Amino acid sequence: MTNAAAVTDRIEAELAPLYAASSRAAWEINVLANSENEARRVELETALSDFLADGERFATIEQARAEATGTARRRLDLLRASFLRNQVPTELRTRIIELEAAVEMTFSLHRGVVRGRRVDDNEILSMLRESDDPGERREAWEASKTVGAAVADDVRELARLRNAAARAVGQRDWFALSLSTSEMDEEKLFATLDEVDGATAVPFARWKGDLDERLAARFGCSVAELAPWHYADPFFQEVPVEGGIDIDPLLAAGDTVALSERTFDGIGLETREVLDRSDLFPRDDKCQHAFCIDIDREGDVRVLANVVPGQRWLDTMLHELGHATFDGGIDPTLPWMLRDCHTLVTEGIAILMGRLAGDADWLERVLGADLATVAEIAADLRAARGAEMLVFARWVLVMTNFERSLYADPESDLDARWWELVERYQLVAAPAGRSSADWAAKIHIACAPVYYHCYLYGHLVASQLSATLERECGGLVDRPAAGALLRERIFHPGQSVRWDRLLEQATGEPLTAKYFGGDISAA
Ligand SMILES: [Zn+2]
Repeated sequence: MTNAAAVTDRIEAELAPLYAASSRAAWEINVLANSENEARRVELETALSDFLADGERFATIEQARAEATGTARRRLDLLRASFLRNQVPTELRTRIIELEAAVEMTFSLHRGVVRGRRVDDNEILSMLRESDDPGERREAWEASKTVGAAVADDVRELARLRNAAARAVGQRDWFALSLSTSEMDEEKLFATLDEVDGATAVPFARWKGDLDERLAARFGCSVAELAPWHYADPFFQEVPVEGGIDIDPLLAAGDTVALSERTFDGIGLETREVLDRSDLFPRDDKCQHAFCIDIDREGDVRVLANVVPGQRWLDTMLHELGHATFDGGIDPTLPWMLRDCHTLVTEGIAILMGRLAGDADWLERVLGADLATVAEIAADLRAARGAEMLVFARWVLVMTNFERSLYADPESDLDARWWELVERYQLVAAPAGRSSADWAAKIHIACAPVYYHCYLYGHLVASQLSATLERECGGLVDRPAAGALLRERIFHPGQSVRWDRLLEQATGEPLTAKYFGGDISAA
């Protein structure tokens, strides 16, 4: 065995249990936010971070890496990235970990208030979808932002601390460090964002013009009087019913979890064990969002969700189970460091699966909807999916540009910057006189920093993979060959191949926006 392989084996063997313990603690605080779980989270995250901060180990990795080739080099590249982020003074690391855990707690415990009643995110969303009372809508929207005011100072402080950590390892700021340690190039990222901006600006403006007329008609106001609370979710990241198609009535009688399981069964991907370990329904003191976590890279994969009936949570369940089947499908004989997936590719798989909620083929084969009904709405479904991508792309432009600004200068007027970006990319005007930390209400900015661009790339990946599956397997729904293709070409290699090469190998061409552009043109 070479020196490089021996060094890597040793470090991975020590790292694996620390990683699993910290992941388990992250799971616990999200299913039950209390001070005991918070303390445990901080303790185990700190133990992991201390290990990754060790300068001697880092030097050993650097040395071994210089002479390594092939798989050993790949493992050391990934190890180096994990260690580099942690080569930061102890006090600073500890402060970041504590503050992150505290902010996560606030998000889990906080509930907005509408008409004097505490409401969860699901209730706020159903008001924004269903209520015809502008006063109630406004209250619901404002309630969705109160968590922003509660965490804003801490999130700003987190940005300062993360920047200090990035500078400790010679990077410009946290934004730059995050990209460079995840095999991303900042210049290429912004070139892609510009390309997406260019391709979506005109069709979005046209589509939104139509939407606004329908919304104005529904709410009995002029287009100029439309406010952010007239859209169907707190950030206008989803398509309101007026701009797409409402399939919730078709799904009303269905069991979201059973339908999700059935979807994966149809392509030969197993989800039962994951579902058994998961925490899927809303509760107080629980994280209101959704995620999938691979606890130990030994098969303990879980999903956290807050399922209520309807398309939104069906999409989310399919999305998270997409992540889960990816994690579960990685070659178990790979070295620990490679039993992982790149964020862009796993988001691609998750988005590919999530899009089935609203796919004609899925409605027919999995839900068992009436053929004539599906035929009648097939074109509308395609248009709605195109609209979804359009709306989401504009929203990612807000998020990614905002995060770059946040880390470039945490002291700047972030409240104003947020609305400047929302107005520019989403064409939604700030309510008159509004001065509030609305940006901080988006949990990703605090808890999943510099991650949002992965969702946009995920859409490009999903559209490209979808074209490959169409070409080679005739589609995805109920085609076991499609599941097998994903398992062999995408899941099985894990991180043994760099994400860009993996995608090229799987689809026959480098990542391109052309299939995404094709999907959008249906809007
Ligand atoms: Zn995801």
